[in-house]
Order: sequence, then structure tokens, then C-alpha cells
Amino acid sequence: MSSIILEARDIRYRYPRGMEAIRGISFHSRKKEKIALVGPNGAGKSTLLTMFNGMTRPDSGMMLFDNQPIQYDRASLRVLRKRVGFVLQNPDRQIIAPTVYQDVAFGPTNLGCSDAEVRDSVSRALRHVGLEGFERRPPHQLSGGEKKRVAIAGVLAMDPDVLVFDEPTSGLDPSGSEDIMELCDELNHEGKTIIISTHDVELAYPWADRAILMLKGKILQEDIPEVAFGNPESVRMAHLSLPMLLELHTELQNRGHALQGKKPRTVLDMMNCIEALFEQSKKPTLPGSITVCNADTDPDALLQGWLASHAQIAIGAMGTRAKQRADTEKITLSFTYGVIDKCILKALRGEDSLILTTAGMVKRVSQRVEAYGRESGSRIPVRDLNGTPVTDNRGSP
Ligand code: ADP
Repeated sequence: MSSIILEARDIRYRYPRGMEAIRGISFHSRKKEKIALVGPNGAGKSTLLTMFNGMTRPDSGMMLFDNQPIQYDRASLRVLRKRVGFVLQNPDRQIIAPTVYQDVAFGPTNLGCSDAEVRDSVSRALRHVGLEGFERRPPHQLSGGEKKRVAIAGVLAMDPDVLVFDEPTSGLDPSGSEDIMELCDELNHEGKTIIISTHDVELAYPWADRAILMLKGKILQEDIPEVAFGNPESVRMAHLSLPMLLELHTELQNRGHALQGKKPRTVLDMMNCIEALFEQSKKPTLPGSITVCNADTDPDALLQGWLASHAQIAIGAMGTRAKQRADTEKITLSFTYGVIDKCILKALRGEDSLILTTAGMVKRVSQRVEAYGRESGSRIPVRDLNGTPVTDNRGSP
């Protein structure tokens, strides 16, 4: 298990002339964890998040980063804020410069980086969020989703270890929300710790490694999501609703169906539960295959050639750059979110599919499919556009 990066020890905080917003919270986050703080408005989620980069100092108790108590002098906070990036709920409050370039350059410039280093950080950050070519654009002319990505790029330009997002999808349409959550996954896959606050149970449930239910400045429950949300009493007390998949699972159990295996986090898990019920009558189907295209490096001719010989195939894209490549190549996408699981579901029906993704996520596809194979016993082949197997090389457990 990886080591602890952020820790709160029995912290309390009262706003000046306000009520006590944090009423005795102990919390920790391990490196590379994805944590969702979930609770109704006023639960204290945003206030708790602001403790993580020293924006707010607890009245009592202690905050630690990398096992060291956070120090609140200017120099220490500067160092801390380079390592813990904070993405505000409202990008208009985070974006301060007249052009996208200047805004993203603000952090590295302030850190005293050279012009070349600043240019490099900005172009890396903009590429990460899929906003290459936006350098000269005035942020106020951008869409809500684009502004959010500029704000994220500004944080990424500092290359933090931890990214804190206050209500990451607030104000975004469904596809903008999917893009941001996918970006969170991509960053996590690259090794960053991600902590979000949200009141959206359906968003937190399949995404988080650990869910922390909050109410009135306290933690009600914290665990893996199927356990944290599996306690109807805590969920009700936190003024939240049960995730739909858990509700369906409970309903099936209540009707006397003996469901096997773990509680479902995804539609794929749910399908496994349901299919296991029908196992006896099910005819075995030879699974289809999943082909992965590296949207960063696979040449156009290879991709177009592959597509020409696989008409009517379902295609999914993961990550902003992969979606941009699909757009450029005029590829109609069947899936833009939860892509790997949807392709696994296709494969289980005996159908083939294609996933366009960014270089860093190719391995993620084979890891997920192989993990599924180990759990379920259904081996689904994953190949690249040349037909070469893509494996995670982890072998069987
Ligand atoms: P959440 O993010 O869960 O909606 P917040 O952390 O924003 O919750 O708020 C927790 C409590 O602190 C609420 O009662 C809220 O009214 C209060 N609060 C938040 N910001 C301020 C502030 N600047 N001044 C006074 N009270 C505040």
C-alpha cells in the first residue's frame, strides 16, 4: 500500500463571524489515491479541501503533507502549493490573465522558471488538457468546459503531486463533465493523487477509490464506495441517494435472488451479477476482441486502413486528444465515457471494438481487460492496430 501524502489530525475550523465548518475531522490520503468527498451543500467539503494546500489553517488539530506538519509562512506555503494544486469550482475565479498562455504561465513564472522552462511547462499543460492552439485566446471567450481546462492547465503547469478539485463538474454539460472526469483518471494513471468534492453520488460511486461521506463538518462514513454507500443509514443521514447500481443490486437481493461476487461498481459488474443468475441457460459465446489505437503515435494510414477493413465496428475514445483525433479523422464515436467497460461488454456479446486513446492510457486498457479476465475467467484479446497482442505482462495472480 502506498504511503500517506496528506493527513488531517482532528482538525476544527470556524469562519470568522460564521459557524464551525469543520468539527473534528481526521483524514488521510495515500499517494495515487482517488478520493471523493461527498455530502450535501454546507457539509464542509470545500472548507476541508482548502486545508490541503494551506489556504485555510485549522483553529486546532494539525494538517500534514508528506508526513510533515504544514507550515503557514509564505515560503512554506509557496512550496506546498507547488505540490498540491487546487482547481476552484468556478474557473472565472481562477483564471486571471488576458490570454490562455499568460494564465497558464503564471505559476511557473512566479516560481522563477526561465522563459524556456515556462514555455515548456505551458505547452505540456495545454497539450495535457487538449487546448493546444488556444495560447492567444482570451479566456472570457471560451466555453465553460474550456475555461475549466485552462484552470486545470494552470495547475498542471506546476506539476503538482496532488490535485484537489472543488466540484469538478459543476456548471458543465454531461459531455464536458465526462471529459473532466476522464482527465482526472488520466492524471491519476500518471501517478497523481486526486481529491474531489461533489454532491453527485453517481459521479463519485464508480470513480473513487475511497468515498468520504460528510455532513455538518464531520465525516459520517469513509470506505471503498460500495461500502461507504452501502450503509443506507449513513447515506440517508448525509441527505444523499443510493447509487442506482447499488439500489438495483439490493432490490434483486430483496426479491430473493442469490447474487454472487462483490457489489457492482459499474454496469459491467452488474451485468456479471445478472448473467451469473442465468448461467445455467446461457450459451457460451466466444468473446470479441478489443483493438487499441494509440492516438498520439499511430499513423493516419494505419488507422484508416484498419477502419476500412472493419466497417460498422463500435469505436470509443478516451481522453481529450483521442477525441480530437477522432474528430480530425471524421470517426463517429459510439462511446466517449466508461469506454473500456463498454468495450468489454461488447466483447462479451462476441463483438469486436476499437479504442482510441492517448499513449499513456494504452496499458490502462490491457490492465483493465486483464483484471476483468482474472476476475471473471473471460479472456478478451487486446491488440494494437497491427494485430499484435497488447499485454500488461502482469501474468495471473
Ligand atoms: P460544502 O463545500 O460542503 O458545500 P462549505 O465548506 O462551503 O460546504 O461550507 C461549510 C459551512 O461553512 C457552511 O455552513 C457554510 O455556510 C459555511 N461557510 C462557508 N464559507 C464561509 C465563509 N466564507 N464565511 C462564513 N461561513 C462560511
